[in-house]
Amino acid sequence: MASMRKILFFLPFLFLVLAEGGYCYPEEKVLDPGKKFFSKIGGDMKRNYGEASLSPEQRAVLFEKKTEAPFSGEFDNFFKNGVYVCANCGAPLYRSEDKFDSGCGWPAFDSSFPWAISKSVDADGIRTEISCSRCGGHLGHIFSGENLTPKNIRHCVNSLSMKFIPSSEIGVAVVAGGCFWGVEDYMRRVKGVISAMSGYAGGTLENPDYETVCKGKSGHFECVEILFDKREASYSDILKRFFEMHDFTRSDGQGPDIGPQYRSAVLCLNSEQEREAGEIVEKLRKMGFGVATRIVRISKFYPAEEYHQRYYERKGVEAKCGARILFKKL
Ligand SMILES: [Zn+2]
Repeated sequence: MASMRKILFFLPFLFLVLAEGGYCYPEEKVLDPGKKFFSKIGGDMKRNYGEASLSPEQRAVLFEKKTEAPFSGEFDNFFKNGVYVCANCGAPLYRSEDKFDSGCGWPAFDSSFPWAISKSVDADGIRTEISCSRCGGHLGHIFSGENLTPKNIRHCVNSLSMKFIPSSEIGVAVVAGGCFWGVEDYMRRVKGVISAMSGYAGGTLENPDYETVCKGKSGHFECVEILFDKREASYSDILKRFFEMHDFTRSDGQGPDIGPQYRSAVLCLNSEQEREAGEIVEKLRKMGFGVATRIVRISKFYPAEEYHQRYYERKGVEAKCGARILFKKL
């Protein structure tokens, strides 16, 4: 009886602990386990275009693995600056810098966003099929050994599988809030975000690597470069979500990650970004928060090694966020 009383006494505290444990990404927990591995978390994407917006021709390519006629696609002879995303789920696939003129009649790329592409043996047993890692939509095929570019790889992609976001519509934000794995994982889910990439910035060393930055002497932050669609989100929108997802009152790091490379910072590319970041910090201070976030001007972002990209997503585990402060909307 005494032990029962003890349990009843502790029950409310147990609920408190459970509620605390469920803090991470409350509204983004709608996962889609029915699809491929990446879509488990990739279902996150609020910029999911959905099948409804696809034409019958796009559906035939993406879901029935049909091939568009050569030289017929919108992006075959197309070399504007921007980002190509999956027409079905909006996942970033290629940058315009990856594209080259192969003369084969379909868009050709020799590189992709990290882990964006899944490969499998084609039904013909010879070619290698490529599909979107997030939703499994069919893209085309991949070839090597043709010596068309120094990378010696050709992603041969149907135009119908992709949508193009011109660089004039793409904004860039770079933020640092502790270990970049968690920041990247969270920011990728934010409305309007096209891509989030882990990397290093803010230091003096050229081409830093993880080992050097880890020692905390390069001056770089572990940070995340966020590309966002300016038609869906503003720079301030992105920063507000960043401030919501980490403890900006801590000056030495986040969670168990302590050191100069883990400090909170908004890494600005121009004076306009510095001004907007400053305004948000000022609002937070007026709300009574002691803001430790630094506003740092940078000129260069260095992508981190491939094994750091989309880390939690690939491991299939939920990111451990830092002490997330939930306060009323700015
Ligand atoms: Zn997709």
